[in-house]
Amino acid sequence: MSFDDTNERRAFALPGSTLHYGPDKTVEVEHIDLHLVPDLERRRLEGVCTTTVRALDEPVSQLTLDAVDLNVSAVELDGSKLKFTSRGDKLDVFFDPPLAPEAAATFAITYSAEHPRHGLFFVEPTPGYPKNIRHAWTQSQDENARHWFPCLDYPHEKQSTSATIVVPKGQFALGNGELVERRDEGATTIFRYRQEIPHSTYLVTMVAGPFVEVEQSGASVPAYYYVLPGREADGERAFGKTPAMVAVFEQRLEFPYPYARYSQIAVSDFIFGGMENTSATTQTDRTLHDARAHLDFSSDPLVAHELAHQWFGDLLTCRDWSQAWLNESFATFFEGVFREADLGYDEYIYDVFEWVKRYLDEDRQRYRRPIVCNDYRDPIELFDRHLYEKGGAVLHMLRGELGEARFWRAMRRYVRDNAQRSVETIDLIRAIEQATGRNMRGFFDRWIFGGGHPQLRISAAYDAQRRALTLTIDQTQPVDAANPAFSFGVDLEIDGRRMRVQVEREHETITVPLDAEPTLVRFDPGAFILADVTYALGVRFATAALAGDPSVVAQIRAARELVKDGSAQARSAVEAALKGDVFWGVAAEIAHALGKSRAAWARDLLLATIGHQHPKVRRAVVDALGEFREPEVAAALVSPATGDESYFVQRSALHSLGKTRSEKAFKILRDAAHTKSWNGVIESGAALGLGELADPRATPLLLELTKPGGDPAARGAALLALARQGELLESERAAAVDAISSAIGDANFFVARAGAAAAEHLPDKRLLEPLDRLAQTGFDGRLRRDAADAAARIREDQKTPAAVTGLRADLDALREEHRKIQEKLDALSRA
Ligand SMILES: [Zn+2]
Repeated sequence: MSFDDTNERRAFALPGSTLHYGPDKTVEVEHIDLHLVPDLERRRLEGVCTTTVRALDEPVSQLTLDAVDLNVSAVELDGSKLKFTSRGDKLDVFFDPPLAPEAAATFAITYSAEHPRHGLFFVEPTPGYPKNIRHAWTQSQDENARHWFPCLDYPHEKQSTSATIVVPKGQFALGNGELVERRDEGATTIFRYRQEIPHSTYLVTMVAGPFVEVEQSGASVPAYYYVLPGREADGERAFGKTPAMVAVFEQRLEFPYPYARYSQIAVSDFIFGGMENTSATTQTDRTLHDARAHLDFSSDPLVAHELAHQWFGDLLTCRDWSQAWLNESFATFFEGVFREADLGYDEYIYDVFEWVKRYLDEDRQRYRRPIVCNDYRDPIELFDRHLYEKGGAVLHMLRGELGEARFWRAMRRYVRDNAQRSVETIDLIRAIEQATGRNMRGFFDRWIFGGGHPQLRISAAYDAQRRALTLTIDQTQPVDAANPAFSFGVDLEIDGRRMRVQVEREHETITVPLDAEPTLVRFDPGAFILADVTYALGVRFATAALAGDPSVVAQIRAARELVKDGSAQARSAVEAALKGDVFWGVAAEIAHALGKSRAAWARDLLLATIGHQHPKVRRAVVDALGEFREPEVAAALVSPATGDESYFVQRSALHSLGKTRSEKAFKILRDAAHTKSWNGVIESGAALGLGELADPRATPLLLELTKPGGDPAARGAALLALARQGELLESERAAAVDAISSAIGDANFFVARAGAAAAEHLPDKRLLEPLDRLAQTGFDGRLRRDAADAAARIREDQKTPAAVTGLRADLDALREEHRKIQEKLDALSRA
């Protein structure tokens, strides 16, 4: 089954979605003080939460706090008991007499949390993972602080905090803000932290365990990272550039890093990549990596992202989740800002290009929504490719629209005017207006409050008789009264002559008088317009663009056109680019386009490039070779599949080797399946390859790989491979369903998600029961959503008449037949 058809796009809002608005307030929370004693052995927490509130302008007799599954034993105010009631996810505290308008009160809640379902997680040795080191971490975003301390758990509520964390002697504990005290007392070590700058509850953290502290030098603030014993060198590879990042962001924003210190702590089984708790980011330990991985894997985007949040998200916080792009799109954009400072403009713009690609995939395959959107079930549903990548690309477009100086002036104004506040999009619009005079409301209406993007086809022709160049910009997305054509200003450059044109209609034609045919025609040289752009410039202009356009994005667009064209002239232009010294991203995109073409010449060019020096190009080349089945392709994949110096090239080669269904493949894939590697990269490649092999010997190996004990990523890859295998015997199908079913119920977040994803590819009604259970009771909103999606897909599939299923299978068979005939034709034309 394939879901990459435009018609398959589903609605973003699931059944049960409602419009969300921030809650009303009756008090201002001024300070929260926590006294925390985590028990790592018994998975519980003893806490005292002392909160200072100030009434707004009316008396307050009752305050309702968020508190999920907390056992509250007492609430006290100035030594006397307050009445309270716990009701599941709320705690009502009663003030008698009522708190007078504008009066403050400090009350202490004594509570405990036993085996919390969310918010506070304990890692411990298990039968599958006996080497796990015991530790605990919290994850409060988006609304899960309430699982480990009672609070008004909404981002618009900002308060200062302090925390005393008591751990067994010699262990480490991390909290927010300045470390004001660290002392041993009896069998314990006590850490005391204080965060003076008000922050939201979703940014409050506690991590405890036997972490090793490494102090980093060269930052404008004290900077540290913490890893579990034995990972120190991996930690340096991951976090080494943090001080440089602090400097870049401070310089760009002309605003100092806001907090007393900056710590990053790497924990196991983390359910995100990183979490930007104020001054104390939690990072997944999967970003720690060895020297081999360091060849073509970098933690810098993750580290830069979480650091950027210290300004965007932490100091300036989205007022409600519908505005979360003010956190995530900015953090994504600043990944690019650091990359530009560190590695240069080509790397930055290729980052933007990749954001757009990922957003386009989500738009095509899943759903379309405005970036600001309050129609959801769980806020976490909003944390998707629209919120991160599309928003990052919109900021790049804004950079182009305003120009470099005005853009940064506006950014600085926005940060300066809104530091320590909660923000909405209007605050950004106003800051831009104040800093630059530009009224950007139309821009924001279109790109932030409206969904979609233009699909552009750019063509050019020179008419020698009329002595004019005609450039055509077609919007090929459906345009009608409800979906008008996009209007935007865009730069064109013809042989160095820059002009600005305004695109407003579905078909725009720009005629430029020229005495002679120009050499280089450039559309949107800054690649600012967020669009799905296809070049149809013609071989001559495309060749000139691939060889001479300074923009790597233009080079990629031109290369795609040339590969599709496939004429002798086009082919030699592509070959020259690949053999020359184009930017690695361009070479990788050329490889991808060559694979997609499935042409014999493309295969030969890929085979000739398989030894490319850049590991990311090699990876793209062996990925692309997966589109071909010939024996020479299989033969060429053997060497990278059995030991490229890069993990990722080896993984891709294993996957592609499986696709060739060569006789050589099984033994190589079996050996790789039994190799233990960093983050399960090699085993994952083996699983993906085995899934493509159509060999009955693959199924038992895949089933083996799904079991506890393996790396979660490899288990996920094996689940997906199992589900995607073509025809299965009923006994194999039953075993696959069992494996997917137990994955859906697995305690590991990633394995459970992979289980739900696999279920979409093996629509078996026996999976409905575990999926429905996960959709109802999964601890995280993403699990619930994935499970609901997969269950809906299976139910749709059940309703599909057998005749339709049969016809679909016939169609697949015809496509395969067509592909084989095409290959024969290609081979003949090559001979
Ligand atoms: Zn983020």
